[in-house]
Amino acid sequence: MAGRNHLFIPGPTNTPHEVLSAMHLPMEDHRSPIFPDLFKPILADLKKIFRTEAGQCFVYPATGTAGWEVALTNCLNPGDKVLIYRFGQFGHLWMDMARRLGFDVECHEVEWGKGIPLDVLEARLKADSQHEIKAVLATHNETSTGVTSNISGVRQAMNAASHPALLFVDGVSSIASLEFKMDEWGVDAAISGSQKGFMLPAGAAILAFSQKAITASETTTYPRAFLSLKDQINSNKEGYTPYTPSTPMLHGLRKSLDLLLAEGLDNVYARHYRLAEGVRRAVAAWGLRLCAHPGFESDTVTAIVVPADKDARHVISTAFSKYNISLGAGLTEVAGKVFRIGHIGDMNDVSLLGALAGVEMAMLDNGFDIKPGSGVAAAIEYYRSTAQ
Ligand SMILES: *Cc1c(COP(=O)(O)O)cnc(C)c1O
Repeated sequence: MAGRNHLFIPGPTNTPHEVLSAMHLPMEDHRSPIFPDLFKPILADLKKIFRTEAGQCFVYPATGTAGWEVALTNCLNPGDKVLIYRFGQFGHLWMDMARRLGFDVECHEVEWGKGIPLDVLEARLKADSQHEIKAVLATHNETSTGVTSNISGVRQAMNAASHPALLFVDGVSSIASLEFKMDEWGVDAAISGSQKGFMLPAGAAILAFSQKAITASETTTYPRAFLSLKDQINSNKEGYTPYTPSTPMLHGLRKSLDLLLAEGLDNVYARHYRLAEGVRRAVAAWGLRLCAHPGFESDTVTAIVVPADKDARHVISTAFSKYNISLGAGLTEVAGKVFRIGHIGDMNDVSLLGALAGVEMAMLDNGFDIKPGSGVAAAIEYYRSTAQ
């Protein structure tokens, strides 16, 4: 099909041309004396993205899923109790990983569409007077439902209970796009991946650990090898990696950090809010509703609930085959009930209006009772009135 297939899935996201160009280069010697000139400033600049001065950043040749495992296996002891609230597919998978790794998982169900229940969390932590819970696992942005949880509130709940558990945060679809303040929120492990807010191909787990988490990792006994933090720390000290890094990925990351820092993080967050708000106006104009309940709406991905007599999978397949756009599917519990528009990473008004137009066409083709142009019109009005 002529023209470009734009990705409107929440990862992998569109890779800017400058980043693609920066990655297009010959392979190089990762043990050379000049490799640290590339790698050390990357680790330093990553701290600005995570908003940490006290913490330390790491890049593993892996994906976000491995980041979950780095946190669990390095900072905890075998069989430790971890607490998680499950309200989407990614929280589910993290919970399942912790179980498979033999941790004592306490999982509470929350309606999909809502986020971490702060008062319930606080009460649970207060009840844990023996401090059996060693880590709280929090999904910052639940990509499957388009729900953002309040991590600052999680920290406040932990403080209110004077609970010493570590706070692990899955920020795979939030970091570098939504406001994230590692130090201020007292996050001990912040987990991200290359193919979402960092606008790169999949293949890097991009992580930050607090000194408290690193100190814990020095004495924990859970077996780890490839994902050992200690091996990273030892090599990173000199600007190297414990095993072969993907050098094109690192050059791409260098460029994506340059782009993000030049735009300014506050501007990046504001851009994501504005883009997301246009999509929300369109959804309201179509007479449809979000999967996210009020107060939990994500600015990186919007999950849209289709009427009960419709199958969201048909919208996605029509959009792909007839209009050459990729939308996100509903996963497991919401399969067929929602489709998702990803507006994370390298995105602007006009690209996103293309997605909204394509979604309208696909919905009309599938017999949705919507007025042609209504969602696009609502988004246009919002974008025009808020454009700088
Ligand atoms: C994409 C995603 C993951 C999984 O990351 P992979 O890179 O696919 O391993 C985990 N958590 C969230 C919230 C995500 O959006």
